[in-house]
Amino acid sequence: MAKYHCPYCSPRYQIHSRRFDGVMICGQCGDPLVKIPAIKLTQIFAIVAAIAFIAPLFITAGAFFQDLNRPQPKNSIQVMAFKLSEKV
Ligand SMILES: [Zn+2]
Repeated sequence: MAKYHCPYCSPRYQIHSRRFDGVMICGQCGDPLVKIPAIKLTQIFAIVAAIAFIAPLFITAGAFFQDLNRPQPKNSIQVMAFKLSEKV
């Protein structure tokens, strides 16, 4: 259901009524009501901006959890100590 509002009256005190020909009018001033879109253009920009700031966090978390599953390479210092001890 589409939302309507009167641009001239306070949003707190909006009384909507229907005229005899079916047009939605304001109960206080009698002007026709304006239809409010479900999603405004500013909300779309806000969602895109929020995704742009939050996405690197999820990408970093995903890379971190992928790195946890990878087998760890052997520590090169331990390998060198083992080879040195074999020679002696
Ligand atoms: Zn009004």
